[in-house]
Amino acid sequence: MLVGPPGAGKGTQAEFVAASLAVPKISTGDIFRANVAHGTPLGVEAKRYMDAGLLVPDEVTVTMVANRLGEPDATDGFLLDGFPRTTPQAISLDDLLADLETKLDVVLELVVDEDEVIRRLSGRRTCRGCGKIWHIEFDPPIVEGRCDRCGGALFQRSDDHAETIAERLRVYTRDTAPLTEYYGAQGKLVGVDGTGPVEDVTVRTSDALRSYLG
Ligand code: AMP
Repeated sequence: MLVGPPGAGKGTQAEFVAASLAVPKISTGDIFRANVAHGTPLGVEAKRYMDAGLLVPDEVTVTMVANRLGEPDATDGFLLDGFPRTTPQAISLDDLLADLETKLDVVLELVVDEDEVIRRLSGRRTCRGCGKIWHIEFDPPIVEGRCDRCGGALFQRSDDHAETIAERLRVYTRDTAPLTEYYGAQGKLVGVDGTGPVEDVTVRTSDALRSYLG
């Protein structure tokens, strides 16, 4: 599992970790965004919360994750990105995993301070075509507004606007940060310095995983 504030780089590192372990990346944010894009009832409900920088209610989120963990590609392991985000979600996850007769191996916390997170989120742009994440200052594409990889148009996530970022950070501090104590008490938490170039963070993340998983 990857935890850390919005903008810590969970999504980016999750791609590498999932690929290196050959397990699916299960990102609740991605699943909500896909539902929003397809206009499903779940998407319509989730969008109200997402656009306000708030968390989607636990019951809705946990049911969605339970369904996802039941899919065949998750039987040999998975990487959770952005879930759980509240203590009740973490408790529900423990129950779900017990039902599946499995357990969490390790929780990697990407540690990045708040000023850096705000800089990252406000400049973040996503490709409509392939989903690649760019940054107007730290990782700009050659042609402004166009993805180098696929030529798709770049957009700013509606929850990456300044007021919503501030609310998301408040919610993180209040509801999600206490999870580090929850997993620390289980002896599963490993902190990873999430600052600096993406490649450096990937090396630190892989090292932490290797030393933990062997
Ligand atoms: P993310 O892409 O992980 O930053 O998630 C984007 C948004 O989706 C969040 O700001 C929440 O509104 C919602 N979301 C994602 N994961 C969760 C979760 N585990 N619990 C509640 N809401 C979530």
